[in-house]
Amino acid sequence: MSEDKHPMKQILIADDDPGIRQVMRAALQKDGFEVIDVADGIAAVEAFVENDPCLVMLDVEMPGQSGFEACEQIRQSAGGAHVPIVIATGREDLSAVNHAYEAGATDFIAKPINWPIFCHRVKYVLRSSTHFQRMQMSEEKNAALLTAIPDTMIILSDDGEILNFLPGFCEHPLPAPTEGKTSVFEYLPRPIAEKWIHMARSAGRTTEPLEREFALPAEYDTVAHYVARFVPYLEGQSLVIVTEFTERKRAEERIHRLAYFDGLTGLPNRQHFIQHLDGMITNSKQSDGRFAILYVDLDNFKRINDNLGHSYGDGVLKSIADRLGQCIRKQHVAEDGEPFGIARLGGDEFAAAIDDVDDDDILVNVADRIREKLRQPVKYRGHEFVVTPSVGIAVYPDDGDNVEDLLKHADVAMYQAKSSGRDAVRFYRGTMSLKSLQRLNIETMLRKAVENDGLELHYQPKFGLDSGHVVGVEALIRWRDEDGKFIPPAQFIPIAEETGLITPIGDWVIHEACRQVRTWQKGLGADIEVAVNISSQQFYHCDLKKTVMQALFEASIRPNLLQLELTESLLMKDVREVVDTLRALKDAGVSLAIDDFGTGYSSLSYLKRFPLDALKIDRSFVKDLSENNDDAAICAAIIAMSHSLGLHVIAEGIETGEQLKYLCDQGCEMGQGFLLAKPMPAAEFEQLMTERAGLSKRQPA
Ligand code: C2E
Ligand code: MG
Ligand code: MG
Repeated sequence: MSEDKHPMKQILIADDDPGIRQVMRAALQKDGFEVIDVADGIAAVEAFVENDPCLVMLDVEMPGQSGFEACEQIRQSAGGAHVPIVIATGREDLSAVNHAYEAGATDFIAKPINWPIFCHRVKYVLRSSTHFQRMQMSEEKNAALLTAIPDTMIILSDDGEILNFLPGFCEHPLPAPTEGKTSVFEYLPRPIAEKWIHMARSAGRTTEPLEREFALPAEYDTVAHYVARFVPYLEGQSLVIVTEFTERKRAEERIHRLAYFDGLTGLPNRQHFIQHLDGMITNSKQSDGRFAILYVDLDNFKRINDNLGHSYGDGVLKSIADRLGQCIRKQHVAEDGEPFGIARLGGDEFAAAIDDVDDDDILVNVADRIREKLRQPVKYRGHEFVVTPSVGIAVYPDDGDNVEDLLKHADVAMYQAKSSGRDAVRFYRGTMSLKSLQRLNIETMLRKAVENDGLELHYQPKFGLDSGHVVGVEALIRWRDEDGKFIPPAQFIPIAEETGLITPIGDWVIHEACRQVRTWQKGLGADIEVAVNISSQQFYHCDLKKTVMQALFEASIRPNLLQLELTESLLMKDVREVVDTLRALKDAGVSLAIDDFGTGYSSLSYLKRFPLDALKIDRSFVKDLSENNDDAAICAAIIAMSHSLGLHVIAEGIETGEQLKYLCDQGCEMGQGFLLAKPMPAAEFEQLMTERAGLSKRQPA
């Protein structure tokens, strides 16, 4: 700010002689003072109150009020006690000098004035005046303070003139206005300048400092963020203090990104999505609008992760996220300018919000676009895959009027899509939900059961059909719901497979079965072979060989006491990896059986390709043996074929004596079924074995 214009260098002259006023003004201005001049004593007092000058020069005789009266009044006014007041008296007019002294004048100057020394006189008076010293000191302090503040200070007039500019010394200081361009409209982009003028004018009307954040556009060559504070200054002027806060803004943005965006894909995360949906609900309530949530889950994505590693899976997820982005119109541009349409909810789950859904066809189109786009093979690091999505759709307000219900229902619909064979789209419509909701409940409860040891194994004995001896057991998983009722494995195993829970469950079954064999070895003194059912998902989602070897080792039992029952569908995949794993298990001494034989493709050729030991005829053929000739023929053929391939045969589900007899006649070696024994808890099996041992001691067979 210019020193010359500072009010502390202002001198007030009161003299009714315009000639004297003019000469005084010229002399003082030449010495750097600013001058206010008035023609009478009353005006002198008013001008003093208004301007607070640093020195007052009063003529004695003036119309209206004399210099002495004016002097007295100034002394009594606010800020007037210490201001130096010089009274111009007539030469040798001693009484006037006295009078001046009594009226409170600081000094007198004799008229006619000796002009060459006039200004020196003024400066001497000023220097010896404590008032002046105080002002000088506070001016110096102010100047020091101002230069110590890194902010840019601007004095702005209400009509947009930059009256003063004190540059700041922050990281990106605001550039000074170029020479001659002192209008704020030439200095700042128009929208910002308009806001500034508005704020400057409002600043005068409020005691609160007004603030406005702004950033300069690209052509200003700075990426900095500023906040401008407006405080009232002199009449019609504001002091604008501009503070840079780029670093804080960046930190805020970083924190915002971490909290609301997914680190891998850069998409909004679940939290962000939920907030966004809240906003959509509020808007839709006001406008009676409809919007939809699309819940997108990638089918079998886990397989990519498990087989090729997580970094691989991450790469694929990123490219899927890009593709999804191309399918959804980014119509939701949030206030802060972030495009919004899709979010990653976690893992391989994405969601999209579609606004203004007048009819469902729009949604079907979007969903089909997603399926079409994702179906194109993803090429990544030399591999190529097809990733299909299952899409569930819930619509506001039809399927829920709050975020939680809408998300849950879109999820339910997505499960429907999955269970209909994947790569599908399903709408949630109230009526279809019950089954799906049960399914969701089962998943939640099952998760808890896995965490809280809520699962158990029952054992169904297998009998040698010739000897009637127990030749082994099959371990069958049992899970009770909250009321203690058994939930059949057929109901929860598929859910466990879909959700990945099969991995911890499968591991637990293998460990528990081996541990039980060891317990029986000790309790019964006998080796009981245990067969464990293996889901095909266990081949993809975990290291089966490692789990098996660990379980055998921990239980200290021989590998040939463990049989793995595999499904036909697993063998049909004929993946190199499956063959290798089976061979490794076989080499380790574990025996392998095919379960439910006859229900899948029943291709004989693959039986030769795998290192199998036994084959279990599915219950459905045994069931109708006596009534259905075809089934009888199929059983006979399976038994004959197995023997010719060197495989043992076990018939499942024997419920009648007739079935048993037929199977024996056909040379089936082993059987299982309710007729012989139902699945039972381990303790019951132990009791059965103990009783049978007692019996056989009394009546040798
Ligand atoms: P599965 O391996 O074919 O098991 C035989 C199923 O038939 C068992 O049903 C058993 O209780 C039942 N069963 C045995 N004899 C008879 C009979 O005479 N009549 C009738 N009607 N049923 C009989 P469960 O225990 O309900 O198991 C069903 C399926 O669930 C099993 O079929 C198996 O595929 C699967 N499962 C059971 N436990 C496990 C496990 O630990 N892991 C895996 N991955 N799957 C399992
Ligand atoms: Mg089985
Ligand atoms: Mg079976």
